[in-house]
Amino acid sequence: APGLWLVATPIGNLGDLSSRALVTLRAADLVLCEDTRVTAPMLARYGIGTPLRALHDHNEAAEVPQLLERLRGGARLALVSDAGTPLVSDPGFRLARAAMEAGLNVSAVPGPNAAVMALTLSGLPPLPFLFNGFLPPKEGARRDAIARLRAAEGAGLSATLVFFEAPHRLAECLAALAEGFGNRPAAVARELTKRFEEVRRDTLPALAAHYAANAARGEIVVVVGPAEADAPSGAEEVDARLRAALA
Ligand code: SAM
Repeated sequence: APGLWLVATPIGNLGDLSSRALVTLRAADLVLCEDTRVTAPMLARYGIGTPLRALHDHNEAAEVPQLLERLRGGARLALVSDAGTPLVSDPGFRLARAAMEAGLNVSAVPGPNAAVMALTLSGLPPLPFLFNGFLPPKEGARRDAIARLRAAEGAGLSATLVFFEAPHRLAECLAALAEGFGNRPAAVARELTKRFEEVRRDTLPALAAHYAANAARGEIVVVVGPAEADAPSGAEEVDARLRAALA
């Protein structure tokens, strides 16, 4: 059907491209991708000859008007990112939003997502979870971001937290998380769906120590268990809660 199709692609294992994704990419008039150097070889591997055009954070705003024109004219546009589900820590949101606001058909072909796969393999409570994307790379901004999450927990949020992280920052990121969240259970998921896939489950301080001693490689998701369930901390608080409930 005409419209904008948000098509998920593999996060490392080519076997994970769905048959509907194949059909959609083949039938599209144009595939919009983050980086043609990544997507061209992938399409070639599947024998897909659809024309490619780059759409990334730097040209997305400028490209939107003419892409909307093409959609209005009945074009079928497929949007993919370098890996996984487009828009999730990847470009595409501006275009998708503009197409929706213009009343154009927007649909998706769902598929791989590193955050959800890591969550399911973490052994930590899957619901609710809060996906944070990448923490800020600079130390101060990262500490602030962690402090904001702690504040949200202070206000009652109790969710498993999911972060993307680059391998060369993993050790310092885990140290900052250990400093902010203490001795919580966590998991580091590495190279998901690939040959050297690994999930390490331990406390934050133990994981921080492990990766400080053993530099990590590859693509990484960090999952942190939720704050302790909201248990009353003493007789006084129990009394206060009872009074509040009875009032
Ligand atoms: N849109 C993608 C998705 O749906 O998974 C995420 C894109 S984001 C720019 C890339 C980050 O996702 C990587 O730095 C890493 O943190 C995580 N990631 C992607 N593929 C991964 C994999 N195979 N194993 C572990 N983490 C992965």
